[in-house]
Amino acid sequence: MELVFEEYRTRRIVNVHRRVNPWFWDKYSATPYVGCRSGCEFCYLRGQRYLPSLDPDRFATHIRLKINAAERLRRELARLEKDILYCGDWQQPAETRYRLSRQMLKVVLEYGFPLLVIERSPLLARDVDLLVEVGKKSWVFVFVSISSLDPQVKRAFEPRSPGLRRRLALMDTLASRGIPVGLALMPVFPFISDGEEALREVIRAAKDHGASVVLAGTLSMDGVQAERTLRVVQKHWPHLEPAWRDLYRWHEEKPAHEPPRAYTARLGRTVREICEAEGLRDRLPRYVVPGPRAWNKRLAEHFHLRAYDLELMEAPLHRVWAYRKAAWSVEDYAGDVLALYRQRGAEGLRSLPHIGAKLAQEAAVWLAAQSD
Ligand code: SF4
Repeated sequence: MELVFEEYRTRRIVNVHRRVNPWFWDKYSATPYVGCRSGCEFCYLRGQRYLPSLDPDRFATHIRLKINAAERLRRELARLEKDILYCGDWQQPAETRYRLSRQMLKVVLEYGFPLLVIERSPLLARDVDLLVEVGKKSWVFVFVSISSLDPQVKRAFEPRSPGLRRRLALMDTLASRGIPVGLALMPVFPFISDGEEALREVIRAAKDHGASVVLAGTLSMDGVQAERTLRVVQKHWPHLEPAWRDLYRWHEEKPAHEPPRAYTARLGRTVREICEAEGLRDRLPRYVVPGPRAWNKRLAEHFHLRAYDLELMEAPLHRVWAYRKAAWSVEDYAGDVLALYRQRGAEGLRSLPHIGAKLAQEAAVWLAAQSD
């Protein structure tokens, strides 16, 4: 299919998230391209959930470019409270010609926003100079995405994406310039790349190339993306099709969006054990912009981490949700949660929505210890 670049002027570029993402802690996201030349079969952007108007079969050949991306970003960042901006997979072949990502990066630096990048392309090395400056002025973290070190897995699911060795070399380049790097081990393919040895191999490689954090995520399934991904399994691992269908409860028309909780928890526990043995983290510490509500964000992080621990333990869902709602509650609180605690103790914290006596006590102990 012919490759088409379509330029257009966007009316908005920054997505403001209602809730921060407790994995990457981004409040905002912005991207200059719609569609991606790499065209990974599993790419969640092919699903109808996120870009319902996009033709999933032309996702890799019809690339839409927001030619006013930097100009819009400047206008929108000027009005936004400083918080983490996420930009992902923005180093596409089109970038060598249009340089929209680099222009956006200059705007991020100018406004001093903290930046999180998740990237598959070694083209990002071109922008190391700007990333270093963003880190000095505010904060920067780069996750390099690798699903597996097995070349057969790469060829089958992402035949056009940049090579694995080049991605590891990108980690080296970033780490050697002092830019904190992590491995986005996403998606992990069920029964193909989720074995302990395969996980250990890729985690060790990431560590050897400078990574300090590993975030591992399961594969989600959605619409055309799900069908294309299953076709890869049928072609390359036909004996695994029944197990995939069982895992995604795909015996009717549509698969479940996520694997069952027990599968996800088991994967998370395995990755945690390997990370602990290798001296790596399996959660990204939250960067908090200094300011009056900084303690709300730190306490929200604490609650989110507790929710994740409970997920790994497969604790009852109501317990997980209690921590999640408590995190949202302190994040949404318009005042300063530390001031509230200092004035009224645990009783004051209890006045917040979704914070009962036990969580208020836990928050009080945590705030007392951390704010000393
Ligand atoms: S490189 Fe990233 S954005 Fe592009 S197709 Fe692959 S997963 Fe999707």
